[in-house]
This record gives sequence, C-alpha cells and structure tokens, in this order.
Amino acid sequence: MPDVLDRLVGQASAAEQVRHHVRRPVHAYLLVGPPGVDLHEAATAMAAALQCPDAGCGTCETCRRVLEGVDADVTVIERAGTTWRVDELREAERVARRRPLGAGYQIVIIEDIELSVAGAAATAATLLKSLEEPPERTIFLLTARDLPAGLETIVSRCVVIRWRALSPDSLVGALEAEGADPAAAQAAAAAANGDLRRARVLVRDPALAERLAGWRGIPSRLSGELSAVMGLVDEIERGLDAAMAPLVAWQSAETARRREDEKAVGARATPRREIEASQRREQRRFRVEEIAWGLRVLSEVYRDRLVEALEDPAGPRGTSRARSSLVALELIAETHRRLATSMDEVLMLSDLLIGLASA
Ligand SMILES: [Zn+2]
Repeated sequence: MPDVLDRLVGQASAAEQVRHHVRRPVHAYLLVGPPGVDLHEAATAMAAALQCPDAGCGTCETCRRVLEGVDADVTVIERAGTTWRVDELREAERVARRRPLGAGYQIVIIEDIELSVAGAAATAATLLKSLEEPPERTIFLLTARDLPAGLETIVSRCVVIRWRALSPDSLVGALEAEGADPAAAQAAAAAANGDLRRARVLVRDPALAERLAGWRGIPSRLSGELSAVMGLVDEIERGLDAAMAPLVAWQSAETARRREDEKAVGARATPRREIEASQRREQRRFRVEEIAWGLRVLSEVYRDRLVEALEDPAGPRGTSRARSSLVALELIAETHRRLATSMDEVLMLSDLLIGLASA
C-alpha cells in the first residue's frame, strides 16, 4: 500500500529515512533541500506520518487533517516579516510546551530557519533554546534551503534529512501520469523549478504562455520614461494576481471535497479560519515562486543578448551591449536575493525595472 510519503515524487531516499524515524522519532528534524523542493509539503507529509496511528497511511482522518494543514497539534509557526524575529521564535517555544490534544505528538514546524541568523544572533539563540530539552511528546520539524555558517549548533541538535530537486523530466513524467497533455506538461514543468505542486497548478493555467511572453518582452519594452516603467510594473502585478486564480480554484475544490468527506463520516467541520490561514500561506509561497520564475525568464533573455554580443563584438553596439547585459544580469540576481526578504513587491519590481532601463 502506498503511504503518505510515496506522494513525494522523486524523493524515495528521503522518504525511506522518514519511514525509518517515524516509529521512534527524536525531538528535532531538519529538512534541507534546494529551491524548487517543496519543503513545506515534505514537512507536512512527515507530520502526517508521525501523527497517523498507521505511520502515515495517507487516507485516515488524522492524515487528511495534517495534510490539509488543520490538525490542532501540528503548528506552522508564522513569520510576519521575511526574517525570523525573536518574539516569533518564542511563540514557537510556547507552542512546543503545550501538551498535544490528540493521541499523537505536538509538532512544531519552523520553515526557512536559515533566515534566523541573517544579522541577528539573538534569533538563533532563541531557536536553540527551544530545541533544548523539549517536552516528551514534542517534535520540531525545521526546514532550510541550505546550512549557512552560524547554524552549526542548531544543526547538531537535529537529524538532518536531505531532499533533492526534481528534474524537469520527472515533473513532466508525473504530470503526464496524472493525465496532463504533453505540451502543457512541458510548459508547466519548465516554469515550476522542480516544484511538483506548482507544476500541477500551472498545468491547469491557460494564461501561462501569455505570462511567459510578458516576462520575455520586458527588455525590449523598457524606456527611460518612468511612466512606462510603472506601466510595466502594473502589468506584472496584474499577471501575478491572475496567476493566483488557478491555485485559488484548486484550493476551493479541495475545501469542498473536505466538507463532503466531513459530512459523509459525520466528523466535526474544520473551522473556516484554519483552512483560510493555511491557504493564505500557500498563496504567499506561490506568488514568491511566480516572481522567481519571472526573474529566471528575464535572466535568460539577457544571457542570450550577452552571448550574441560576445560572438559579434564588432557588430552594432557589440561591446556596450555585452556590458549592459552583464549589469542587467547582476540587477536581476540582486532582486532574486531580495525576493526572500522583501516586504514591498511593487517597490522591488520598480527598482529592478528602473535599473534595467538605465543599464
Ligand atoms: Zn493515516
């Protein structure tokens, strides 16, 4: 029988480690994987395997509640800003001290812990403190993209489980196995950066090709006019809003299905606000991924320009075009770094386009 960890496509080795641990878990796990790996999904599946009386059957009420992010004993700690604050990590500690309501564990999920050391040793210390001597039935599931210096002591208190990015081919394979049209599967996989859930949303999105053309067209539409730049930012924002629609539709279908299941088995209805909070978290992650994809598309355009200019340095604008492409690529890379910590999306995009226009 496939279990809840089999749903994590292409992660057989990490899944095997999780299975090995769920029957006799330690107090803290650190799930590490490169961008594109859905570490939230991985942590959620591991939480389900820990809570489920059957070690993660994937079908029981407990599994379903955890997977939908509405189990009272599984808490994803919320971060208001883009890096962790001390009071937010204290909240994690407070939750960790609670006795679980159900028969399973009190599971505390803290994502992106690499953001806790960015210039603030106090947050790392707070996190470390809660990992020391947690109550008997508490388990921390931490996630991180990489293991930056400064987190060694935290890492040393966790069992580290590594997840790998999916290749575009394995994404295409998974989408086709679910009945997707081959061309749509290719396009969605190319824009999903190894993230299967994102690919599943994109494969239903008829406007994906249009957004791709929009990002690709930006370099040739830039001018020194501020109003033109702001017009483009507006367009990107509208594209981002539209990109959310298939995800939102999918989420409400999931909610409807859940309501029917609850009625069918006579279970207590999950409070609306719990469902909504979980869905908002996913929408936020999706939007950031969508911008990251747009930035990758923009980079490709400038990389092509750079190659062209280098191949024909004597051609029209050869050397200056090479130089301006390099400046543009650096600006995009800088925006990408900023994406993880930026609160103001419009400001970030305006800065980028203004910079590109004068590159
Ligand atoms: Zn189960």
